[in-house]
Amino acid sequence: MNSNRRDFLKIMAVGAAGAATALAAGPAQARLPKALPSGAIGLLYDATLCIGCKACEVGCKAANQMPMDHDSGVEEAHGVSGVWDAPDDLNSRTLNKIKLCATGDASHGGFSFVKRACMHCVDPNCVSACPVSALTKDPTTGIVRYNPDACIGCRYCQLACPFNVPKFEYDKPFPKIVKCELCADRVAQGDLPACAAACPTGACLFGPVTELLAEGHRRLGFRPGETQDYPIHSLDGSEQRTATVTGYVPSIYGETETGGTQQLLMAGVPFDRLGLPPLGEESRARLSETMQHTLYQGMFAPTLLFGGLVYAVFRNIREGCEDRATPTDPASEPEERRHD
Ligand code: SF4
Ligand code: SF4
Ligand code: SF4
Repeated sequence: MNSNRRDFLKIMAVGAAGAATALAAGPAQARLPKALPSGAIGLLYDATLCIGCKACEVGCKAANQMPMDHDSGVEEAHGVSGVWDAPDDLNSRTLNKIKLCATGDASHGGFSFVKRACMHCVDPNCVSACPVSALTKDPTTGIVRYNPDACIGCRYCQLACPFNVPKFEYDKPFPKIVKCELCADRVAQGDLPACAAACPTGACLFGPVTELLAEGHRRLGFRPGETQDYPIHSLDGSEQRTATVTGYVPSIYGETETGGTQQLLMAGVPFDRLGLPPLGEESRARLSETMQHTLYQGMFAPTLLFGGLVYAVFRNIREGCEDRATPTDPASEPEERRHD
């Protein structure tokens, strides 16, 4: 083993020992969980009411001036240019996607729709990961917003999001991150988010998150086969319809997952069959920030690592000096030079 490799391994060992010592000292600065903002607003999507009409997708595109997407496979097969909008999933031109999932659950016809869009996490990992605060969570409404002027295009938010939501405009010379911002500008003017405004069945419902959760729990008390009244568009009570209950799995996705989300989902089949990741109650943002704080606690681990590096550099310089023997010391000269 040469000295460089040996030194490198020593430094790594010092760094690892420092990290282990810091971790062993315990997460002294464990970050507290984030609470739902006081004026948190969101959406409740009920897959058992969704008919897959995609009016919400169309409304979303129109409200956000997003260009049409189309399935190039269909275009190739039929030899016509894309005049329809059929994205496979969220992409840089699609902020809201209704997907059809084969669930294999005969009691619900073997399929279910599911809405894909930003979940507006209570403790968003995208916000935690962004190094320049281009993504921020509104302290009142809880909407996770994006500032293109601050964004440096590092795409850490894409890696950090547990729902694979933020998309990058690879095809543009000055690309941005794109994702649903809960129609914040419309909401600020007293309008509904476009998806909730367009939905004819009440499957996509807008309102304060606490009231959406209460509505969700009301529905969890319904029994399959009975008829019930469902609000449409929002919880203000202005519009509703009657529908036959098909049954729910007994939980609301987003009530606790990753510390809670402001887009909530209900379904008749287990959520993992709809492609929703099974997540614990602790947000990833809290977990990663606690680990960082622990490692950097008192700057112990970085100081040890830095000290190791300084020592190695110092030693290399000293050894380099010793190797360069003084010309006045004949004993240190190479054999062949002494005989010149
Ligand atoms: S779903 Fe992803 S992009 Fe949306 S707030 Fe949560 S972490 Fe951020
Ligand atoms: S809230 Fe607005 S941006 Fe978000 S999915 Fe609905 S329509 Fe699209
Ligand atoms: S508009 Fe409503 S019913 Fe139609 S696809 Fe969207 S959520 Fe489903």
